[in-house]
Amino acid sequence: MNKLSIIVPCYNEEEVISRFYKETNEEVLKIPDLDYEFIFIDDGSKDHTLDILRLLCYQDKNCHYISFSRNFGKEAAMYAGLKQSSGDYCVIMDADLQHPPALLAPMYRALSQEGYDCCGGKRIGRDGDGTLRGLLSRSFYRVIQKLTHMNMGDGNGDFRMMNRTMVNAILQMKEYNRYTKGIFSFVGFETKWIEFQNVQRAAGKTKWNLGSLFS
Ligand code: UDP
Ligand code: MG
Repeated sequence: MNKLSIIVPCYNEEEVISRFYKETNEEVLKIPDLDYEFIFIDDGSKDHTLDILRLLCYQDKNCHYISFSRNFGKEAAMYAGLKQSSGDYCVIMDADLQHPPALLAPMYRALSQEGYDCCGGKRIGRDGDGTLRGLLSRSFYRVIQKLTHMNMGDGNGDFRMMNRTMVNAILQMKEYNRYTKGIFSFVGFETKWIEFQNVQRAAGKTKWNLGSLFS
């Protein structure tokens, strides 16, 4: 039986993490003949995220967590999750339900039946993001595209499911300051895109400010 690893970076997500688990678990259970694991990465949260994760892992043997000693950032959390994953397929999801769990089934189909190596969610619209952030993000992608000649379209985020071959290729990249969106594009592989409408986070606050995005 195939196994899916669901990798979830979490930083101060106490308000939403239980709901994320419940809704995502429901969707993954609908996919027939699939074993799965959740790998939550607590990225040095200062709220009760880690306590909630510990409880989830105690209650559900499919749940695992990694606890960082401080906040290292989402890039480090994604890398740690991929490195610990044991699935034939891996999907990276935000904890705030901005990545719709209903897309897991069509993503899995794209990989297991349609011959793709990767299936990414392509976000349409930026409702809920501030005007300035939207403007700066669009400008960033325009510049980075020109400079690198790689397709890192605005909207092609970290929400994607990959097969083990692609995951291993990503793990072989020993960049220290990782920019995963660039690495996804750099390693290549056949990718299918599924569009989804942007939704606001289900609860809690965004972890980015202009300074951290600039960095
Ligand atoms: N995140 C993280 N470490 C950080 C910042 C964010 O693990 O230092 C996680 C966060 O908990 C969430 C995901 O990365 O699961 C995306 O963060 P957020 O929703 O704040 O970003 P946005 O959707 O506003 O771009
Ligand atoms: Mg978010």
